[in-house]
Amino acid sequence: MQTNLADFIKHTRDGDEAEAILRACVHCGFCTATCPTYQLLGDELDGPRGRIYLIKQVLEGAPVTAKTQTHLDRCLTCRNCETTCPSGVRYGRLLDIGRKVVEARVERPLAERLQRLMLKEALPRRWIFTSALRAGQLLRPLLSKPMQDKIPRFQLAGRRPARRHARKMLVLEGCAQPAMSPNINAATARVLDALGVQLIAAPKAGCCGALRHHLNDQAAALDDMRRNIDAWWPHVGTDSAHAVEAIVMTASGCGVTVKDYGHLLAHDPAYADKAQRIAALTRDLSEVMPQFEEELARRIGGNIGGAAAGKIGGGLAAVAYHPPCTLQHGQQIRGKVESLLRAVGVDVALCADSHLCCGSAGTYSILQPALSLQLRNDKLAKLEACGAQAIVSANIGCISHLQSGTETPVMHWIELIDRALKDGVPKNAARKTVSPSPA
Ligand code: SF4
Ligand code: SF4
Repeated sequence: MQTNLADFIKHTRDGDEAEAILRACVHCGFCTATCPTYQLLGDELDGPRGRIYLIKQVLEGAPVTAKTQTHLDRCLTCRNCETTCPSGVRYGRLLDIGRKVVEARVERPLAERLQRLMLKEALPRRWIFTSALRAGQLLRPLLSKPMQDKIPRFQLAGRRPARRHARKMLVLEGCAQPAMSPNINAATARVLDALGVQLIAAPKAGCCGALRHHLNDQAAALDDMRRNIDAWWPHVGTDSAHAVEAIVMTASGCGVTVKDYGHLLAHDPAYADKAQRIAALTRDLSEVMPQFEEELARRIGGNIGGAAAGKIGGGLAAVAYHPPCTLQHGQQIRGKVESLLRAVGVDVALCADSHLCCGSAGTYSILQPALSLQLRNDKLAKLEACGAQAIVSANIGCISHLQSGTETPVMHWIELIDRALKDGVPKNAARKTVSPSPA
C-alpha cells in the first residue's frame, strides 16, 4: 500500500516501522472474514483492513476524530487477522502505533479517562487488585447476579513444593493471576517438581507490562518491563552454572508480551541486549512440557492402571480446549496443549471456530462489555456443544471470562495434569472452591 507519512511521524522509529507494515498490506481483505468484530458489527471499519486504512490516514496527517478512536478501541488485539494474512502484515504492531497517535490527539470523556486510569493503576499492582478482589468475594452474596458472575470464587492454591533440584526454571507469577487463580502457578510448580525441575520466582517481578501497554501508557509499560528484567537478570545472567533453563509463562497473555521485550526495548541502550536475552529464554508452559510427555504418560498411565484401564478421568468424558488468541495467534503456538493432553490420555476436543476470540482480551471485557459478552456467549455455546464436562485454557483472562458465563468448570490445562499426577483418576473435574476466609 503506497503511503506518504506526515512530517510529525516521518523518519521516526514508529514512522519507519508503520510505513514498512503499511507497504506490506495489499488490501486484499482476506483478513476481514476472520475478524470477530467485523463478524459482529458488519462494518468494514470494524475489521482489520478498515482499521489499517484508518491508521494510514491518521499517519498521513488526516484529521483524527472520536469515531476513529472508537473503531480502534473495538479491536480485540486478538491478531487473528495476522494468522489469516497471506502477506505477513504485522497488524498488532501497527495498531499499537496508531492507537498511540490517536490517544494523543483525541481527548476522551472524563468518565472514560478515569476508568482507564483506575485500570492501569490498580490492575498491575498485586496488593491493590488482591484487596479489591477479596472484598468483592466477601460481599458476593449481597451483589446482583451479573456482578456475582464477574467475581471469581475464592480458590486455594494448595501446596508449593519445597524440594531443590539441579534443574531450575523461573516463573512469572503475574499480577492478577495469583489473586484470581493461585492454583495455576502452584500446580505448575508441583508438576515440574515431580519431573525433577525446581520452579522459582523472582519476588520483585510483577506485571509483564501488557496491561499498561494496551491502555496506551507505553512509557509506564516499558518501566514494568525494565523492572522485570532487573528482577530476573541475576537468574539468567552469564554464569551458566546458576542460570535457569527457561522463563516459564503460565498465562499466554503475559508470554506474548515478554517474548516481545527485545523489540519493545530495542531503542534503550541500557536494556536492549538484556531484553533480547530475556525474550529468547521465555517459553509458554506448553513449549516446556513436551520434553516430559513420555514421563507424564508413564506416571499417569501407571496411576490409572495403564492406558487400557481407560482414559484419564474415567469419569471425565470429555474436555474442551479453548486456545487463547495470545497463544495461537500472538505466539503462533498451536496443537501443543492438545497433543500433551492426548498423550496422557485426556479426551480433548477443539470446538467449532476455535480460532475466534472469547472476548476477554485483557481489559476489553470491562471497556467493551457488550461486544465482549456476545463473544463469550458464542464461544461458550460452541464449547458446550462439544459435550465437554470441563473446559481448559491457557490464559487467566480467558479462564475467568469463560467461567463467568457457565457452571461447567473452566481451568488451566496444567491443573488437570496436576490432579491426574496426584489422584490418577479425576472422577470429577470441578475445581475446589470455598468461601473466602477473612484471614
Ligand atoms: S492485512 Fe493482509 S489480509 Fe488484510 S488486507 Fe492487508 S494484505 Fe490482505
Ligand atoms: S486483532 Fe482481532 S479484532 Fe482486531 S482487527 Fe485483527 S482480527 Fe479483528
